[in-house]
Order: sequence, then C-alpha cells, then structure tokens
Amino acid sequence: MEFIIRSKALYSTWIYYKPDRLLFDVGEGISASLGNKIYSIEKIFISHSHVDHIAGLWGFINTRNNAMGSREKNLEIYYPKGSKNIEEYLNFIKSMNKYLRFKLITKPLEHGDVVELKNNRFLKAFKTRHTPGEKSLGFQILEKRKKLKSIYSNLSGENIKELIDKFGKDHILGNYIKKILTISGDSLPISPDIIGDSDTLVHECTFIKESDRKIRNHTSLNEIKELLNFIHPKRVILYHVSSRYNRLINKVKTELSEEFKDIKVFIVHPEEISII
Ligand SMILES: [Zn+2]
Ligand SMILES: [Zn+2]
Repeated sequence: MEFIIRSKALYSTWIYYKPDRLLFDVGEGISASLGNKIYSIEKIFISHSHVDHIAGLWGFINTRNNAMGSREKNLEIYYPKGSKNIEEYLNFIKSMNKYLRFKLITKPLEHGDVVELKNNRFLKAFKTRHTPGEKSLGFQILEKRKKLKSIYSNLSGENIKELIDKFGKDHILGNYIKKILTISGDSLPISPDIIGDSDTLVHECTFIKESDRKIRNHTSLNEIKELLNFIHPKRVILYHVSSRYNRLINKVKTELSEEFKDIKVFIVHPEEISII
C-alpha cells in the first residue's frame, strides 16, 4: 500500500502517502478514517484554503495530541505563502491547543520551494491554476539517483567492474533526478512540462462531463485525456471527482484503461476510501 485517499469534491479531500509519511490536504473525517496512522505523519502539505481541503486539520492536531502514540514527534505543516485564511486558521488552532505535546512547525511555501525529505528525496511546490485570488499549490516528490555515465554504457559488466576497482564507484556513476510523484491539488490541468516523466500522476478530475463545468477552475475528463497524449506516467490516479458521477466511475476507469493501455488507471470513488 502506498496511498490511502479520500476525495469527494466539495466535501473532503486528503491523500496519505505512506513511503514518505506525508499527508496532502486534510479534509474532514481524516482522523477517524486514518486512526493511529496519523502518528506516522511527519509533514502535511496544504494545497489551498478551501474548506474541503483543510477542515480536518484541527481534529487531526487535537487527536494526535490526546490519544496514545508517539506524541512527541514534531509535526510540520506547509501551506501556500500569502494565504491569509490558512494563517488565521492555524493561529486559531494554536490558540485552542496551547499545550501541545509535540512541536508544531508551520511554514509558508511558494512556487519552486523545496522541502528535503528522507532517503535522497525532496519535495518541490509548484503554482496551480484554481480560483482567482486564492493561492494554490501542487506538489512533486523527486529523488536523487545515480546511473552509469553514458560514456560507459557500451562496456561489459567485467569492464565496468575493473573500472570500479580502479577508480571507485563514483567515477563511473552520474547523478540525475527522478520525478516520483506529481499531485495536482485543485487546478486546471497541470502543464506537461511540470509533470515530465513522473512515475505517478495524481490529478484532480472534478468533471467527467465537460458541460457540467460552469466555471473553469477544475479539470475535466477530456482535459485529462488530452494531457495523457503528452506525458507517459506509469500510473494515473484521478481524484476530487464530483459525487454526481458515482455511477460512472467504473465505466470511465475501464474506458480510460483501454484508451491508454500502458498506463495503470485508478479513480478515487467519491464515496469510498481508496487504498492503492
Ligand atoms: Zn476542492
Ligand atoms: Zn478548491
């Protein structure tokens, strides 16, 4: 299991990413749903201030403070810089929970900011296109990796071993950055330039039918299909789907999987908690 996701547009959205113990958004109901897994979370990244993405934060902090578990572990909360609503909400939470057993660290983030993670990984925030006047961010997890320098790519295993013995591993290996995961947040389609060669794309898809979209601040299924012609992720997870499409989810998933055969497609059902 890598992800536990609950997402129903307008109601509640949160994404738990187990490999790096991260939480993306913190909609209502999260603490009751995740139970004692909330203690393993070290960092929370908030995409924007809409209530369906932040309403669970007060409960999360309170539960983490009062229930059993490793209460002393710090909690870091990152949010879009300049989001007054989130700042006021954080101040309210801090004033209501004056005696926290753990250290609560809150940090604003803006486009291009980097947060170091463990295991040679780091997170990068990017600007998204959501509601005018609302600061909103998407997030990407990247990993520093090493591979054989291209000048040595034709050498046999034996020759490579000789080189390593002579000069050491670092001599033959070059550094590169691998995009592991891109999460859109609430947004119009994320640019293919940002997504790049991400292994996994978690993208919002509020509208399955284009005609239902009255204001252009969320992504439609047609736009996802268009996007998938430019990028080649191994896996796509669509979330933030409107519950008006509950009965279409399976059908859409089958159709997308047939159209994009090389991509593993998941759609987070608005009424279910998805474990992926
Ligand atoms: Zn939303
Ligand atoms: Zn929103």
